[in-house]
Amino acid sequence: MTEFDVVIVGSGVGGACTAYRLARAGVSVLVLERGGYLPKEPENWSPEEVFLNQRYVARDEKWSLNGGKPEWPASYYNVGGATKMFGGVLARLRARDLEELSFEDGVSPAWPITYQDLEAYYTEAESLFRVHGRLGLDPTEPPHSAGYDFGPVDHEQTILNLFNGIRAKGHHPYSLPLAVERHAGGTCVRCATCDGFPCKLGAKNDVEQILVQQLLQRPNVTLKTHSKVERIVLDEAGRKVDHLIVSTQDGKIFVRGNVYVLSAGAINSAALLLRSADERAPRGIANSSGLVGRNYMAHNSSVVMAIGRKKTGVTFQKTMGLNDFYFGDADYPFPMGNAQLIGKVSGAVLASQTPLMPRSIGDAISARSVDWYVQTEDLPCADSGVRIANDGTLQLAKVPTNRRPHREIVKRVSQIMRDQGYPIVVSREFGIRTTSHQCGTARFGTDPAHDVLDPYCRTFDHPNLFVIDASFFPSSSGMNPSLTIAAQAFRAGDHILASEFGIR
Ligand SMILES: Cc1cc2nc3c(=O)[nH]c(=O)nc-3n(C[C@H](O)[C@H](O)[C@H](O)COP(=O)(O)OP(=O)(O)OC[C@H]3O[C@@H](n4cnc5c(N)ncnc54)[C@H](O)[C@@H]3O)c2cc1C
Ligand code: SF4
Repeated sequence: MTEFDVVIVGSGVGGACTAYRLARAGVSVLVLERGGYLPKEPENWSPEEVFLNQRYVARDEKWSLNGGKPEWPASYYNVGGATKMFGGVLARLRARDLEELSFEDGVSPAWPITYQDLEAYYTEAESLFRVHGRLGLDPTEPPHSAGYDFGPVDHEQTILNLFNGIRAKGHHPYSLPLAVERHAGGTCVRCATCDGFPCKLGAKNDVEQILVQQLLQRPNVTLKTHSKVERIVLDEAGRKVDHLIVSTQDGKIFVRGNVYVLSAGAINSAALLLRSADERAPRGIANSSGLVGRNYMAHNSSVVMAIGRKKTGVTFQKTMGLNDFYFGDADYPFPMGNAQLIGKVSGAVLASQTPLMPRSIGDAISARSVDWYVQTEDLPCADSGVRIANDGTLQLAKVPTNRRPHREIVKRVSQIMRDQGYPIVVSREFGIRTTSHQCGTARFGTDPAHDVLDPYCRTFDHPNLFVIDASFFPSSSGMNPSLTIAAQAFRAGDHILASEFGIR
């Protein structure tokens, strides 16, 4: 049995940011990661390999999605978690996202903390991940106590024309806050394969690049790759976590710590808690409320492709966002969410979604298109979530919520693009297989009967067990999640240091 002060399950944003916070204060930390290092190789930037052949998608477990036959999920099990593939947009939630918001379909619940509770941690996370951006353009922007350390990534000519054209129509486009090394002397070469691809140059500021390499310089941090946590085992009294059972390449091992942090991602953290059910916790670990795995959210999201007559010549497209409809507009007074350019859609990406389309047509269309990612809040629903079938299969269910505002924002973005001279606009919604913005399976709050975690992400049931990843979100907002996971990990990390180790 190996022993550490803190054992963290998962090396994604939640796990690595918690490890960073604790390790800097001298606490010994073990990070267990089920995957290995994602290799830097030519295929990193091959749309055929990444999108058509799904080269980096995990192949160690099939899930059933909405009751379908088990299939490989679009999950990435590697050091750094999903950030190895992410688009690098590190955005704050809007201050009102943490308050109760009303929608036509129901209510987005308030968080147990306010925006101000996270503000300083947001600033720290932006600095750590070297976010490039510009304040002052987006009217929904929440208060920032400091600006970005780096100016925004430039728009390419077609995007700059659009930015100016959209502004001239009275809208407020802004520069996306991006974690890429694109500044004078920076290593980013501005390629077309960033969002959804790993960076073969290490110029994307993902978690491995920014945090893991730095953490491993410390004698008090150990990372064990290819170490999948299979079960959480409670002590005799069923009160505290006693040890973890971990599958490694050398067989099963037992790992013990004083404190345990689950950061396996919202779906896998819930699955691990449920799979660890035994006679002391018959409904699963930390599940006296019966809410572990429930209230899964993942954004209502679509790609909107606006196709013009001329080739756009755009390479790195993801530089502009628009929040003018975030909290509604005069014609539709409910929050509709965010629109941001997505990584440049290519013929291979189109072929992965529409196999019958000839590749030459996909190439011709994508050369003439400007492509948006549009995301709308998904509301918590007890029937959306993770369950474990009798044969051990992970079952993910998603009840559609809040559909109308998503259609409304897609309509508005489509019209904006037609007004800018793009006569054909098509959109396509992502389905349940897109779990990239997964959140909400173990929400935090103040009531043990209705929440799984307290406001510092400690489980109500087991004082030495925390869940620090997107599971804690009580509502999904309409914004990208990673920076909020990082900020809360710093906040919860400070709390663990003070409450468990007497370090302030
Ligand atoms: C293509 C893509 C683009 C995205 N773009 C953006 C973006 O631009 N901006 C943004 O904010 N967000 C983006 N996201 C979402 C973002 O990457 C995630 O929200 C975030 O990385 C989640 O962090 P996490 O720590 O909660 O979980 P994860 O990143 O999923 O990390 C969990 C880790 O735990 C490991 N693990 C799982 N189970 C076990 C186990 N049983 N034992 C041991 N280890 C385990 C996994 O291998 C993984 O490394 C994107 C996601 C994808 C897929
Ligand atoms: S755009 Fe820059 S950061 Fe992104 S993959 Fe290309 S080189 Fe890397």
